[in-house]
This record gives sequence, C-alpha cells and structure tokens, in this order.
Amino acid sequence: MDDRMNVSFVIPCYNEEDVLPITIPKLLKELEKLRNKDVNKTLVYLVDDGSTDRTWDIIDRLSDECEFVVGVKLSRNCGHQRALLAGLNIAEGEAVISMDADLQDDITIVHQMVEEYRKGSEIVYAVRDDRTTDSFFKRQTALLFYRVMAWLGAEVIHNHADFRLMGRRSLDQLKTFKEVNLFLRGMIPLLGFKSTKVTYQRGERAAGESKYPIRKMLALAVDGITSFSVRPLRLVALMGIGFAFAAMIQLGWIFYVKYSLDTAIPGWASTLIPITFFGGVQLFCLGLVGEYIGKIYQETKQRPSFIIEKITKEKSQ
Ligand code: UDP
Ligand code: MG
Repeated sequence: MDDRMNVSFVIPCYNEEDVLPITIPKLLKELEKLRNKDVNKTLVYLVDDGSTDRTWDIIDRLSDECEFVVGVKLSRNCGHQRALLAGLNIAEGEAVISMDADLQDDITIVHQMVEEYRKGSEIVYAVRDDRTTDSFFKRQTALLFYRVMAWLGAEVIHNHADFRLMGRRSLDQLKTFKEVNLFLRGMIPLLGFKSTKVTYQRGERAAGESKYPIRKMLALAVDGITSFSVRPLRLVALMGIGFAFAAMIQLGWIFYVKYSLDTAIPGWASTLIPITFFGGVQLFCLGLVGEYIGKIYQETKQRPSFIIEKITKEKSQ
C-alpha cells in the first residue's frame, strides 16, 4: 500500500508581484524533491490578499501553468492573519505548511517538518535560531513583545512567525475558533496537541519591500495582547486604587502643611502636575478599556473574517 501523504502549502500574498516570479519556481523545485520521498501530492495555495498590483495575474498564470498551484482570491485586503486562515480553511491534504511569499523562511527545512509530523507531532513550529537579519529596532520590539506576553500568561513560541506545519486534526479544530481578532501565533498553542520545533536561519526578502510596516506590526501586537489576556484591565483597576491611596496621603500632607506648619500655599506646580499626570493616566485607562470594548463590538457582529472571491481550481475528490 502507498502510505505517502498529501501535504499542502499556504502562502498569503499582498502586492508581491516582484517576489512571486522568483520564489514560486524555487519552491516548486523543492517540492519536487519532497514528492520523491514520502509525499504523494503537494498543492500550493497562493492566497491573494486583495493586492492592488499584478499579483493576481501572476497567481492566475502560475495556476494555469502548474497543476500543483491553486490561486485563491480574497475580495479585498483582509490582512495577513486572515488571508492565512482563509488558506488553512480550504487547503486539502493531511498536513498543511504555511509560509510567507518572500521565502525569507528557509524552505529546505520542509523535509524535516514533514519528518517530525510522521514521527507523531501534530504541529511543527519552525523557529529562527537567531535574528541577525532583523534590524536592531525589530529585534528589541520583538523581545519586548515576548516579555509582555509571557508576563500576561499567554503562550507564544519565541522567534516563530507563521511558518509551521499543522496536521488535519489540529486544522479541523482551528475551524471551531470563531474570533475575528486573529492572532494565530497565540491561538495555535491553545489547541494543545503534541508539537515540536525545528530551527532554521531566516534570510533576506527575495525582492520588494516588507508588507509589514510599523503600523501593522503594532496592530498585530495589540491584537495579540488584548485577545489573549484581560490582565491589563485588572492592572488598570489596581492602578486606580493605588493612585486613590496616594491622593489620600497627599491630602493628609496638605492638611498638615496648612494647619500645623502655617507656611505659604505651595506653588502652581504641585497643583498642575497631578492634574496633567492623572489626566494622562485616566486617558490611558479609558483607551485600554475602549480597546477591549471595541474588540467585543467586532466579535458580536460576527462578520466573516474574509470573503473568497474565486479559486482557480476545483477541489479534487
Ligand atoms: N501579507 C498579506 N497581507 C497583508 C500584509 C502582508 O497577506 O496585509 C503577506 C505578505 O505578502 C507576505 C507575508 O504576509 O507573504 C509576510 O509579510 P512580509 O514578508 O512583508 O513581512 P516581514 O517578513 O517583513 O515581517
Ligand atoms: Mg517577509
């Protein structure tokens, strides 16, 4: 009996016209090697996340030229995480590997990932062994983010982006998560299942520019933090109690100065500083609460996370 398995690949693409003609042929070549070993069929799902350049035309052509490429077009730009989820939801195969279009991730380790899966791991995380190709700023902000997440008690895999293999069982379970504020890196460890890590070195982008400007990175970090912990809200309440207590002490001190020491009224500074300070603290707390309320608002509407406009190939039977 042929016990070879089917493995699919999911690649979200947003304005990647410079990158796809270079990276996809390279990937397909690597997959040929995979097919010669323990894998039977490899489908590559290229998910166009509402690109405004020629990305879809390129995907469409690749799909025509190669029987293994499937193009999936989202109706608009939904963001990397949602495009990824769209691909994971429709991809066929016993296992699915997700990666970026720019092939910054080392594709040669897919063999190792499949091997780990065959040895019994349901989820295989690809983890970078160093971050030397990142800028100083990105390294430091990533470190800060991991610290905050750890302190909040949310499990995220360090130095792991969305390059991972998931088996059919975990993919089916992922579909039961209904949230629209997606942070897959936090959701997938919540699935449980046996998992393992393989390490690799991340290269430079093949061409084009990063599609993750600071604005998107920050939004992802805020989503990660507020979707996985209510601890910041508790902290706000504690901060409120702390400041109220400090204000009472201050009040006592003012009475003491006024009635016992009989010195002149202290200057403006001591009045103005607390006003601005507490104003700032209150605004911050309001904003934080607002962030959570905004999330509740979005979740209750139950809008779809993505809308698929078309798929180039029918599901195989
Ligand atoms: N991406 C996407 N939608 C977006 C932004 C990015 O599908 O709104 C894709 C992008 O095409 C790439 C992956 O997400 O395949 C990661 O983006 P990028 O390589 O630009 O991020 P970086 O490696 O710089 O963090
Ligand atoms: Mg990249």
